Amino acid sequence: MTVICTDMSTIVGPQQSKTNLLGLSVEKLTDFFASIGEKPFRATQVLKWIHQMGVDDFDQMTNLAKNLREKLKVVAEIRAPEVVSQHDSIDGTSKWLIRVSDGNCIETVFIPEKGRGTLCVSSQIGCSLDCSFCATGKQGFNRDLTAAEIIGQLWIAAKAFNSLGPKANRVVSNVVMMGMGEPLLNFDNVVDAMSLMLNDNAYGLSKRRVTLSTSGVVPMLDKLSEVSDVSLAISLHAPNDELRNQLVPINKKYPIAELLASAQRYLDKMPDVRRKITIEYTLMDRVNDRDEHAHELAKLLSTLPCKINLIPFNPFAQSDYKRVTNTALNRFRDILQKAGHIVTVRTTRGDDIAAACGQLAGTVNDRTRRSERYQRQNQEQPVRFVNG
Ligand code: SAH
Ligand code: SF4
Repeated sequence: MTVICTDMSTIVGPQQSKTNLLGLSVEKLTDFFASIGEKPFRATQVLKWIHQMGVDDFDQMTNLAKNLREKLKVVAEIRAPEVVSQHDSIDGTSKWLIRVSDGNCIETVFIPEKGRGTLCVSSQIGCSLDCSFCATGKQGFNRDLTAAEIIGQLWIAAKAFNSLGPKANRVVSNVVMMGMGEPLLNFDNVVDAMSLMLNDNAYGLSKRRVTLSTSGVVPMLDKLSEVSDVSLAISLHAPNDELRNQLVPINKKYPIAELLASAQRYLDKMPDVRRKITIEYTLMDRVNDRDEHAHELAKLLSTLPCKINLIPFNPFAQSDYKRVTNTALNRFRDILQKAGHIVTVRTTRGDDIAAACGQLAGTVNDRTRRSERYQRQNQEQPVRFVNG
């Protein structure tokens, strides 16, 4: 499905003179209140109103004095990106199409499972890394999302579920940074947004339940370990550099050995010795799904505390890759398990609303002209984007 955002009349660009409080971490919100001559506890009060109560109107913040509310209205705002549509699948999956600016749209997906509800959040409009099996890469790149646009995806979902009441049993308990984009290439905004996810006065999610997925921007991963200890997922997809160079081009800059060493360093900084890294491995028919790949992967990961998540490839129009067969998938899983690895297989959810893993569609005004190039290569066929 290709979604085009056509209504330009309501678009508000990311830059405006009022400070948008939605994306400010508690530290930045405290600084903001200091800059307008207010005490630090105002930051906690406002944080709760915005993120726990879903309030975007200062007049509703009844524990703030009226003159402070009036002052805030002049200098600040709480502006979430605009919801274009919400689709609910028969299996409980929900998908929001969210307009971020200039006709660009992203998608956010909620996946309910037994005992938890996971929100898949985007970090960029498109992606500058051109992984060969990923439609986000084919869409090209427009810009980083702001911290407000990243946390805004959770704000929108939480607000929608709060309005249903507790009986609906719709709660975001987990967040995965696995939507469009490479989160480590939008470091500051992603870190600010994740700090709000974890903050007890905002969403209060456990660090085990917030996962950042990266294709392997090694220096930024090392930097992340200095400021955050969220769960980590590494998009590996190949057991050796030769194959990974073809699938994940950033591997040429940061090869597997460097990436896994960085992942180990990340774990070493965590106080909890039981924590594991998730290794994501998208399986494509006769590309990376052979027995020898499984044996090589088992050996490669033999010393890293990890669990391996096998993801059957979701095909899309611009790609020649095919989904792994069930026989190859089961063989691959068995080889890894026999070697002592913990293996999970990602199941497809929300098929009827095109919200399955790797089926998020958005609209990217590509600034890299990469999408144009791919469309030319595909003789201008209608494009069905399937992405991370
Ligand atoms: N840029 C980050 C996060 C977004 S991609 C990263 O690469 O990790 C999140 C996941 O989506 C990746 O692990 C990738 O395996 C998966 N993905 C991308 N395209 C896919 C496709 N066509 N089918 C199945 N999974 C896909
Ligand atoms: Fe970007 Fe991740 Fe897709 Fe690679 S898999 S192009 S890093 S979104």
